[in-house]
Amino acid sequence: MTMLSVNSIDSAISTLFDPSVKVVDRQRVSGRDINRAYKLALSNGERVFLKCNRPDLLGIFTAEADGLNALRATGAIGVPEPLAVGADNSEAFLIMEYLESAPRRTDYWETFGREIAMLHRAKCGPRFGFSTDNHIGSTPQQNAPSGSWVSFFRDRRLLPQMKLAWGLLDEHTRRNLTRVTDRLDSLLPEPAFPSLIHGDLWSGNALCGHDGKAWVLDPATYVAHFEADLAMTELFGGFPERFYRAYNEVNSIDRSYPNRRDLYNLYHLLNHLNLFGLPYLAEVKAIAEHYA
Ligand code: ADP
Repeated sequence: MTMLSVNSIDSAISTLFDPSVKVVDRQRVSGRDINRAYKLALSNGERVFLKCNRPDLLGIFTAEADGLNALRATGAIGVPEPLAVGADNSEAFLIMEYLESAPRRTDYWETFGREIAMLHRAKCGPRFGFSTDNHIGSTPQQNAPSGSWVSFFRDRRLLPQMKLAWGLLDEHTRRNLTRVTDRLDSLLPEPAFPSLIHGDLWSGNALCGHDGKAWVLDPATYVAHFEADLAMTELFGGFPERFYRAYNEVNSIDRSYPNRRDLYNLYHLLNHLNLFGLPYLAEVKAIAEHYA
């Protein structure tokens, strides 16, 4: 289905379905910080998922829809279909396929691991970045393409977050971070092939769908070294070992990857420091110290 660009939720619904179709129930989906989210029940018995925010934030939803479509195009893993984006005077919105949930298959984690590995092996690129800038949480994420992964990770990932965090950092940590970015060439390799990654792959961004398999949501998609996605899965405690074993059967994880994991996650920790403040400072300082 081609995604619609419309100026009201009602007109999106009637264009997507039929002019007679109306929203009959709107249930708030709670628990997230950035957008307001709702499950909409429609008069034709269908359901859709709605995210809303301030009208000036329409670009966040347009970019999210682009990311969802790029992930869907690989066919590697379940991703909800974006159906419409738009804004009226009071809110910007993104309407997407509603994911009905079912109990997890017994091989949920193995399948999830294999499908993420297939995503990472899907044809993409060749340049690192993405067709549009997008967001990580609510922080803008620059995606202007680059032929070098290491330069991309330095110039479009670490440096912009460091700039935002500068005022929160002591002199010693500033020096360490500068040293890390100066010598990034010796800390990170160029990947053997470019990978489209989810970009914000933590457990809160996966849901078990009607097929009992993991579906991924809320991406911050771009072409990268796949290790950046793996690292993110480990940031808040990690996925079960079964996920990584199955992943490794489809896309092998280099033995030296654990040496780089925290460096990739420095990006997310700096972002958390910028979004949520000082609880993340100690980890940022420790990682900067380690790699400087
Ligand atoms: P935010 O951008 O505010 O973080 P998310 O896209 O992560 O919002 O969605 C918030 C929550 O809503 C998710 O954790 C998930 O439980 C639920 N959710 C998100 N997308 C869908 C969907 N397409 N169908 C059903 N539930 C969804």
